[in-house]
Amino acid sequence: MKSRTLVFKSGDKDFEAGLSRAADIIREGGTVAFPTETVYGLGADALKADAVHKIFKAKGRPADNPLIVHIANADQCSELAEAISADAIKLMETFWPGPLTLILKAKDIVPDVTTGGLNTVGLRMPDNPVALELIRRSDTPIAAPSANTSGSPSPTTADHVFHDLDGKIDAILDGGATDIGLESTVVDMTSDIPTVLRPGQITAEDIRKCVGDVRIGYADRTLEEDEIARSPGMKYTHYSPKTKVILIEGQIKDVHKAMTEIVYDCHKEGERVGIFVTDETAKVVNADETYSLGKRNMPSQAARSIFMGLRHLDDKEIDLIIVDGTLEKEGIGAAVFNRLRKAADRIINV
Ligand code: AMP
Ligand code: MG
Repeated sequence: MKSRTLVFKSGDKDFEAGLSRAADIIREGGTVAFPTETVYGLGADALKADAVHKIFKAKGRPADNPLIVHIANADQCSELAEAISADAIKLMETFWPGPLTLILKAKDIVPDVTTGGLNTVGLRMPDNPVALELIRRSDTPIAAPSANTSGSPSPTTADHVFHDLDGKIDAILDGGATDIGLESTVVDMTSDIPTVLRPGQITAEDIRKCVGDVRIGYADRTLEEDEIARSPGMKYTHYSPKTKVILIEGQIKDVHKAMTEIVYDCHKEGERVGIFVTDETAKVVNADETYSLGKRNMPSQAARSIFMGLRHLDDKEIDLIIVDGTLEKEGIGAAVFNRLRKAADRIINV
């Protein structure tokens, strides 16, 4: 039977009480979705296996895909991880609280269900007052993957969480739209050289500046079954709307021409098309539905709108979403393209 999901909204007069209620739910082994600066997380007590199981069940997440554990202070870090290198400490001091997850050797206290059976654990201190307060009041580290149905675009508003998980989780803390819009950078600190397993707002270059050396350990695509995934999440489809998605990359003029041709061909077949485009491209290419990725040279705007846009277009009666690959790939742009390429059913290079 479907049970009720409580929603507490920041700014409402009962939010304080809601936050305490949410912390009680975590302590009692329940599930609470909460905002972070990256995307919304679906949290449960990281140290209680039964509680963490509920996250996997609500999301439909494969059991071998580990969860990031969210902490609010340094003590929780030493409670959960060991053999923490000087470089790892330097990264924490520089980037925490913030959108950086560090993979460290796990202590035995961390249940297998949280680590997906690995001997490592991903830790992060989020930079969001609601998230930090929830962890403090719960008085336990909180395991929290993105609060979406597995495989669908990540949630950047409480409405997205409600859409995917209403009736499947105990509560949602609504703290408004998230700032960054993309998940944290994941860096493996258990290898000889720090290795980026997932790109995010904190770039490989930022990490290199801090600790000297860094390796790229991710691919902008879902791995094949026989490839070895350093991070189990790499094996699974991500960020995919139900509608077919085509990403077109290349020189600006060529991309515009290809988009216009595809829209024309679809219309000839009686199909409706949505385009997810930079503001500059929106002036040149027309379709049935348009959603803005922001300015071409401002990938941080695209980061904030990518999941919102994919969900918005997916709700329209359209047969195809065409994504504009003319966006700049600098800085957080690399992380945006990582998500776009994974979301795409087909990538066309023109
Ligand atoms: P999500 O919580 O939905 O943002 O996904 C967390 C991501 O971090 C997934 O891609 C996981 O595979 C990855 N991750 C979490 N813990 C570990 C770990 N111990 N080792 C490698 N990757 C991890
Ligand atoms: Mg996720």
